[in-house]
Amino acid sequence: MITKKGINASPGVAIGPALVLDAEEYRIPRRTIDPSEVPAEIRTLDAALETSRQELSELRVAAARKLGDKTAAIFTFHEEFIADKPLRAAVVEAIEKNRYTAAYSFGQEMNRRERLFRNVADSYLKERVRDLYDIEKRVLRHILGRVRERITKLTEPVVIVAHDITPSQAISLDRDHVLGFAINVGGQTSHTAIIARMLDIPAVVALNDITTDIAGGETIVIDGTHGIVVANPDDDTIERYHIRQREYRAFEEQLAELRDLPAVTTDGVRISLQANIELAAEARFALDTGAEGIGLYRTEFLFLSSDRLPSEEQQFEAFRSAVRHARGKPLIIRTMDLGAEKMTDYLDQHHDHNPALGLRSLRYCLSHLDMFKTHLRAILRAALDADVRIMFPMITTLMELRQARSTLHDVMEDLEDDEIPFARDVMVGMMVETPAAALLSNAFAKEVAFMSIGTNDLTQYTLAVDRANERVAHLFSSHNPAVLKLIRDIVLAGKRAGVDVSVCGEMAGAPMYCELLIGLGLRQLSMAPTDVPEIKKIVRSTSIKRCESIARKVMRFDADRQVLNYLRDKLREIDPESGI
Ligand code: PEP
Ligand code: MG
Repeated sequence: MITKKGINASPGVAIGPALVLDAEEYRIPRRTIDPSEVPAEIRTLDAALETSRQELSELRVAAARKLGDKTAAIFTFHEEFIADKPLRAAVVEAIEKNRYTAAYSFGQEMNRRERLFRNVADSYLKERVRDLYDIEKRVLRHILGRVRERITKLTEPVVIVAHDITPSQAISLDRDHVLGFAINVGGQTSHTAIIARMLDIPAVVALNDITTDIAGGETIVIDGTHGIVVANPDDDTIERYHIRQREYRAFEEQLAELRDLPAVTTDGVRISLQANIELAAEARFALDTGAEGIGLYRTEFLFLSSDRLPSEEQQFEAFRSAVRHARGKPLIIRTMDLGAEKMTDYLDQHHDHNPALGLRSLRYCLSHLDMFKTHLRAILRAALDADVRIMFPMITTLMELRQARSTLHDVMEDLEDDEIPFARDVMVGMMVETPAAALLSNAFAKEVAFMSIGTNDLTQYTLAVDRANERVAHLFSSHNPAVLKLIRDIVLAGKRAGVDVSVCGEMAGAPMYCELLIGLGLRQLSMAPTDVPEIKKIVRSTSIKRCESIARKVMRFDADRQVLNYLRDKLREIDPESGI
C-alpha cells in the first residue's frame, strides 16, 4: 500500500481499478501485462511500426520533391531502421518473455541502441542518435495513441492515472466509466483540475510520479477532497474510504436541497451565483444546480474537441445550443482563449518558449483575424434575441481592447452587408486577468459594460507562478495580499464607473474565499456548476456585515499564511462540514 499526497483538484472519493496512461514525454513506466494480453501488445507494436513506416515513406517522397534526394535520404534511414527485423524481434521477445508492455519494451530496446550509437567512435553514427530519438518518439506516439483511443471506449469503471490529461483528451473521455483522476502534474487551477470539476469527478493532481507507482488494474483510492491517493489499499483502508464516500454523497444530497432557494445573505443581500461551462450542453446541467446564468462559457473547448477548425456554421450551432440550454438566463460567451496548454494539432504548431506569456488568447485571435472574425460572426448570430454577452479574455492593454472591439464592429458591418440577422446591442465586457489590466481598471471600466476577474491567470501573472506547474504549486495562492489588493481595486473601479464586476476564476467556487469576496464588494460569482450548492449554503449563512469585517481584517495582513489561517477559521465557524 502506498499513500501519496498531492493537490486536491476536485472533491469526492473514488475507488476502483487504475487505468495507467503513459506520459506525454514518453517516460514509460515498467509495467507487466497479463499473458492473455501478449498477442494484443504485439499487434499494437506491429501496427505502430507499420503506420510509422508509411508516414516516413510519405515524408520521404514529399522531401525528395521539395528539398531533393539528399534530404530525403534521412527518411530512408528512418524507414529502414523501423523495418529492421532484428529490432522487431528484440521487442517481441521482451513482450513475450518479460511480459512488458509494447511501449516499455520498445522504449528499452531503443535506449539500448541509442547507447550503442553514442559509444562508437564514428562521428557519423554518433550524429545519428538524434535520429533514433526521433524514431522512438514517432513509434511510441502510435503505440500510445492506440492506448489513448481506448479511453474513449471504456467498458468498465476505472480511475485514470496519467502524467496529464490534455483538454482535448478530457473532452472525448468516456465519462460514464471514469471514476477519478490521479495526475502527475498540475495545480489547483490547471486545466486538468478545472475539467475534473466540470465533469464532477474526484481528482488529485501534482502527484509527481504516480504513473510509476501503480500498475494497470491495481486498486487505487482517490480522495479528491483532501488531495490523497492510496495505491493498493488494504481492506481496512478500503472500508474507511467507502464510509467517506457515503458521507460525501450525503453531504452533496443535503446541499442539493438548497437548489431552489435564493442565494441571499442573512441581512437580505442577493448574491448572483453563476456557472462556468466548457461545452454548450453543460449549460443545462449548470442551471439545474441552481445557477442563475452562465458567467463564463469557455468557447475554446469547442476548438479543442474537434479535429479540424470548426466552420462558422458549426460554431453557430454550438453557441445556439448553449443559448437554448441557458433557457433565457444570461450567457456570457468568452471569445476563444486558445494557447499555452489549450492548443490542438490543427492550430498553430509554433511552440512558444514561454507559452503563458506568448501568443495566446486574444493575442492569438488578433494575429489570426480571419479565424477570429468567423468566430465573432458565429457568436453575434447566435446572440440574436437572447441574453448573450461577449467577453474578451487576457486583455493587457487598452489598445488590445479597442482592436478587439473594432474587429467586432467590422464583423457587424459585414453581417449587415450580407443581410444576416445578428444581435446589434450585445453587451461587451472583458476579463481582468493580467496585473496590467487590474492596475488600469479605472481606465478599462470606462470602455466596457462589465468586467469579470479571472483569478486563475491573475494569480499566475501577479505572483509569477505557472498555474499548471506542480513544482511551484505551493506558491500559487490567490489569497496572497498582492492579488487581493488588485481584486479590491478592480471592484472599486467597477463601482466608480457603474460597471458590474464578477469573479469567474476558481476562487469564486472555493468556500474559503466566499465571505472575503463578498466583503470586498463582489455580488456576482461564477464557478464550476458543482460548486454552486456549497457556495449558496455559505451565502445563506453569512451577513454582509460579517463579510465586510472579514475583508477589513484580511486586508491588514501582509502574509498569505495569515490570510489562509484566518479564512479557514472563519469558514469553520459557519460551515463546519466544508471539506469533509
Ligand atoms: C481565469 O484565468 O481565472 C479564468 C477564469 O480563465 P481560464 O481559467 O479559462 O484561463
Ligand atoms: Mg484565464
